[in-house]
Amino acid sequence: MAEADSVAVIGLGRFGSSLALELMASGTEVLGIDANEEVVQDHNARLTQVVRADATKEEVLRQLAIDEFDRAVVAIGHDIKASILVASLLLQLKVPVIWAKALDEQHGRILEQLGVQHVVYPEKDMGRRVAHLVRGAAADYLELEPGFAIIKTGVPSELHGRPLGETDLRQRHGVTVAAHRRPQGSWKTADNSTVLGVKETILVIGQTREVEAFAQLR
Ligand code: ATP
Ligand code: ATP
Ligand code: CA
Repeated sequence: MAEADSVAVIGLGRFGSSLALELMASGTEVLGIDANEEVVQDHNARLTQVVRADATKEEVLRQLAIDEFDRAVVAIGHDIKASILVASLLLQLKVPVIWAKALDEQHGRILEQLGVQHVVYPEKDMGRRVAHLVRGAAADYLELEPGFAIIKTGVPSELHGRPLGETDLRQRHGVTVAAHRRPQGSWKTADNSTVLGVKETILVIGQTREVEAFAQLR
C-alpha cells in the first residue's frame, strides 16, 4: 500500500487516531500501527491497514516495509522511550519525512537532535490556542509561527460601511483583513474596495500582539 500519498501513523491514541482518520477523510492511505489490541480493533475498517505490533522493534518496521512510506508520524506520547526509539528507527530506515508528537520541550529537543524534521506539541499548542479564545473576542485563533497569527473575528465598528482602502487599518492597527464572509455566505478575499457589513466575519492576519489587540475592538 506504500504509494506516494500514503502515511504511516504509529500510535493510535487520541492524537494519532484523530490524525489518521482525518488523513483518510482527505483521501490519503493510512497504515496505523498500535501495540494495543483493543485500539487496533477499534480502527480495523476505518484505516487502509491496521497492524498490532510493537513499533520499537526494527524487524516489525522492516516487515511492514515502512521505508517505502514517504511520511510517518510518531504519535506515541507518554512512553517517551518508545517515541524516541521509533523515531530513531524510522530515521535509520530512511523514511524521508518524519513527524513526531512531543509531550514537552525536553522530549521535543531530543527528537530534533535525532533529526526528526517536524516536531509538534499538540497539548501545549492547543492550550495556548484555547487561552486566546478564552481571553479574547476571537472566534478562532491560529499562531502560524511564534509572533505571527491569524484570527477569525467580528467586524469592529470602525470598519463598518466603508472600503477597507479608506480605513488606514494597516497604519493604525498593523493588521490586514485577508478574507470576509457574510452570515451563511462563503469566504471571499478582501481588497481595497471591500466594504464590510456589521454582521460579517473576517480573517485578520498580523503580528500576534497586534492581531490580539484588534480582536479586543468593538
Ligand atoms: P494521546 O494523548 O494521543 O491519547 P498519549 O500521549 O497518551 O496519546 P500514549 O498513550 O503513550 O500517548 O500512546 C498512544 C498510543 O500509542 C497508544 O494507543 C499506545 O498503545 C500506542 N503505543 C505506545 N507504545 C507503542 C509501541 N511501542 N508500539 C506501538 N504502539 C505503541
Ligand atoms: P500601502 O499598501 O503601502 O499602504 P497603497 O496606497 O498601495 O499603500 P492600498 O493597498 O491602496 O495602499 O490601501 C491603502 C490602505 O488601505 C492600506 O495602507 C491599508 O491601510 C488599507 N487597506 C487596504 N486593504 C486592506 C486590507 N485588506 N486590510 C486592512 N487594511 C487594508
Ligand atoms: Ca495524552
